[in-house]
Amino acid sequence: MSSADTDFIDLKVLSRELLLDSTDVGPKRTTSLHARRTPLAEPAAQFRALNAVDLSGGPTGTGAFDADLAASGWPALTPAPLEIFQINVGKLCNMTCRHCHVDSGPDRTEENMHRDAVDACLAAIDQIMAAPDSALHTVDLTGGAPELNPHFEYLVDECVARGLHVIDRCNLTILLVRRYQHLPEWFAERGVEVACSLPHYRKLGTDAQRGDGTYEKSIKALHRLNEAGYGQGDPKRVLTLVTNPVGAFLAGNQASLEDEWKAALAKNHDVTFDRLFALNNMPMSRYLEWLLEKDMTEAYLERLVNAFNPATIDGLMCRNTISVSWDGRMFDCDFNQQLEMDAAIPFTHIADFNLDAWQARQIRTARHCYGCTAGSGSSCGGATA
Ligand code: SF4
Ligand code: SF4
Repeated sequence: MSSADTDFIDLKVLSRELLLDSTDVGPKRTTSLHARRTPLAEPAAQFRALNAVDLSGGPTGTGAFDADLAASGWPALTPAPLEIFQINVGKLCNMTCRHCHVDSGPDRTEENMHRDAVDACLAAIDQIMAAPDSALHTVDLTGGAPELNPHFEYLVDECVARGLHVIDRCNLTILLVRRYQHLPEWFAERGVEVACSLPHYRKLGTDAQRGDGTYEKSIKALHRLNEAGYGQGDPKRVLTLVTNPVGAFLAGNQASLEDEWKAALAKNHDVTFDRLFALNNMPMSRYLEWLLEKDMTEAYLERLVNAFNPATIDGLMCRNTISVSWDGRMFDCDFNQQLEMDAAIPFTHIADFNLDAWQARQIRTARHCYGCTAGSGSSCGGATA
């Protein structure tokens, strides 16, 4: 039996456990597009929906992202030094949130990174770190719920051993699932930063987006992280919260939201955290489905285009990040990954990675990119301007 077969069988068992485990959090907010076999599950259908909108506004009034970049002094979007190696280890998740841009859920057992691709990522990391002017400092692990990948702990340990900062993009509720309850202390021992998604510090907004019962579970998980030493100013135990608007509007001002969140969570739940990232929702996948259902796609895109801010371009995450998918393909960012816009490079698998070719590429863009350049900008690291 190959390691790939073993992964597959384990994940089927795990998926059943997750479905059982989720019965105590009440009704789910939705199911994956993939499970429902809706046309919008395909990136081509998402591009059609976005491109069908008649957009004005922005620097050129054309709704063409490349044209607006060029008008802002960026005739081509080119890479900056590579600082962040982001791996999307799979689409399997214990939740099925309404806004998910990955279309994750307990049904996504087949899209999970196998050990050979994990090792190919580590070899690429070694190649990048060996470059004389290497700027790589962080490995950013995302999903799905990245903790569900059978090689997650191996991957974290290998990255920590290389002296890299590791970020786990955590949905909080996974820390209450039996198999994963040890993780707060396990992360603390290794200095892993935990970046936790929480739509709002109030119950209503969080449960509306993530499913009934999510809020209570999230607060419980935050208490566990606090008990493990997270969220108290220790640079080895950084607890970041990541919020995105519950609705069709832009993320608010990150700095003032952070103050508001810190005060509210401390007062209401005695929870502390270190920093807040406020992200825009990207008009794709299940969030795009929601916009289409509410007939708000045009209004939301207009809002993004009208808020186009050239000052955000320099700090776009596609410039300093490589995004690798569960099957070892490479993308300019996690959003392009979910839309299957492979990076413009002359190789297709991370096992063939070449740093010079990666740095020489031109970044691929389309209308969804307005989500990153609106207002103060939006990236996995929060605001960009
Ligand atoms: S927790 Fe994250 S990955 Fe999982 S369904 Fe929700 S948004 Fe998607
Ligand atoms: S979606 Fe954002 S990060 Fe990705 S290529 Fe477009 S602008 Fe860059």
